[in-house]
Amino acid sequence: MICVKRGNQEVWLGSAEMRVFYQNRVYAAPNLIYHYVTEHQYCPPEEFIEAVLKGPLPGSPEYETFLKRWEQVR
Ligand SMILES: [Zn+2]
Repeated sequence: MICVKRGNQEVWLGSAEMRVFYQNRVYAAPNLIYHYVTEHQYCPPEEFIEAVLKGPLPGSPEYETFLKRWEQVR
C-alpha cells in the first residue's frame, strides 16, 4: 500500500476501488490509479479521463444518487 497526502489528510492507496459515473456508464479502477498517473505517467483511456473530469464529484448529491442506484443493480 502507498500513502499519499491530500491537503492535510493522508490517504492509503492499494486496498480500494473508485467509481466514476458519467453518461449512463460506470467506470471502476483501483484507487492506486492516482499513483500510476502521478508517479508513473500512466495514461488511462480517454473516455475514462473525460468521465473523471466531467462526472459528478464523490460526496456530491448527484454522485451519491448514482452510487446508490449502481449498488442496487450490481
Ligand atoms: Zn509506484
